[in-house]
Amino acid sequence: MSNCAIVGINWGDEGKGRMVDLLTGEYDIVVRFQGGGNAGHTVENELGKFALHLLPSGIFRKGVVNVLGNGVALDPENLISEIGDVTAKGVSVTPDNLMISDRASLLLPWHRDLDELEEKRLKDKKYGSTKQGIAPFYSDKYQKKTVMAGELFYPEKLLSHLKDIMEWKDLTLTSVYGHEPYTMDMLEEWLRNSCKKIMPFVKNTGAFLKKASEEGKKILFEAQLGSLRDLDYGIYPYTTSSNTMAAFAPIGSGLPSAKIADIIGVCKAYSTCVGEGPFVCEMFGEEAEKLREAGREYGAKTGRPRRVGPIDIVASRYGAQVQAATEVALTKLDVLSYLDEIPVCTKYLVDGKETDEFPFPLALEDASPVIEYMKGWKKDISGVRRFEDLPKEAQEYVEYVERNIGCPITYVSVGPERDSIIIRK
Ligand code: GDP
Repeated sequence: MSNCAIVGINWGDEGKGRMVDLLTGEYDIVVRFQGGGNAGHTVENELGKFALHLLPSGIFRKGVVNVLGNGVALDPENLISEIGDVTAKGVSVTPDNLMISDRASLLLPWHRDLDELEEKRLKDKKYGSTKQGIAPFYSDKYQKKTVMAGELFYPEKLLSHLKDIMEWKDLTLTSVYGHEPYTMDMLEEWLRNSCKKIMPFVKNTGAFLKKASEEGKKILFEAQLGSLRDLDYGIYPYTTSSNTMAAFAPIGSGLPSAKIADIIGVCKAYSTCVGEGPFVCEMFGEEAEKLREAGREYGAKTGRPRRVGPIDIVASRYGAQVQAATEVALTKLDVLSYLDEIPVCTKYLVDGKETDEFPFPLALEDASPVIEYMKGWKKDISGVRRFEDLPKEAQEYVEYVERNIGCPITYVSVGPERDSIIIRK
């Protein structure tokens, strides 16, 4: 079997963690290649229920090596606390099953402050950040104003590098935002309390992945968020600050030569969106409340109620195309079982004209959804394990989505548990 990427084709929260957890049994290595501790990949298995933020979702499988690639925003403080949380529930995390790329840049203590300060300054124009410091981190990384994890092994050079960056950053913190400056004492404490603890995991993971690949080991690339939050292809500026695309996986993982034959685009059976930005198919009022409750749509990291709507065919087709998805996993179909009729956003109305092309971000603000209805099935389907055992209306819904997204639906998820899955291949 070849390498595989599991990516989101919507706005995130599609259930990627649950798909990675399901499929890791067939892979040797799981790599996170972008994003940071703002993820909330929920996994339910025999060890319990977990919301993973930075740890790859393969951490529960014995024998699987999990890698945090150079493309991630590595927050030592959060990672250490996350490792503490999962080990307290009986998960083993050691340098044998978790490796951090020596080329991963570190999220520095002021990145979280800057995120918070900037959202506050923006007031009602805020981006809806999770305030984990991700945007300030990535902008500093591309300005070459952060440090790489491997620098922890060169303490003297590291201190001098950090001092230079701190002096530069203090200018912004104090004069733009009126914030207290950072001091070297604060940074030394951060190095002692958090960075030191991640050092046993820091390795040349590029060399590890290259060797593993040459030995025929199978690699699964795990993305955070979805197509519509991609920095370049999403609803800019209401995107994240990294590329959520499968095409970025080789770069962000540390294996630029990786070939990825299988790209599984995870798509929710309805739509959800956390935070700000245009969300054309959004539902409001009681209809929205019922769907939110049925799907328990509250952010895994922030607890924020998610905005909800029917499946958006226009956005999902675009999302699958930009990911170059070779197959789709449709999740949370069971959530729709309470509905008499299932709403579907089939097209957008832009300037009085119907379109099935996903518009330029600014044009999205003036788009409205064209909604059609399909017959519901009104039966609990969470125990179904074969496609042909689904009620006819549910089969028709899946086939409709498949035809219109233009990509085979090979998995239909009917519950959060590992085995609540229908495999169609
Ligand atoms: P991710 O960030 O893409 O991994 O997605 P999240 O973890 O934020 O959101 C997915 C949520 O849906 C989690 O709470 C999962 O446990 C849950 N979930 C995943 N698949 C299914 C499903 O098929 N049915 C139901 N009812 N819940 C699911």
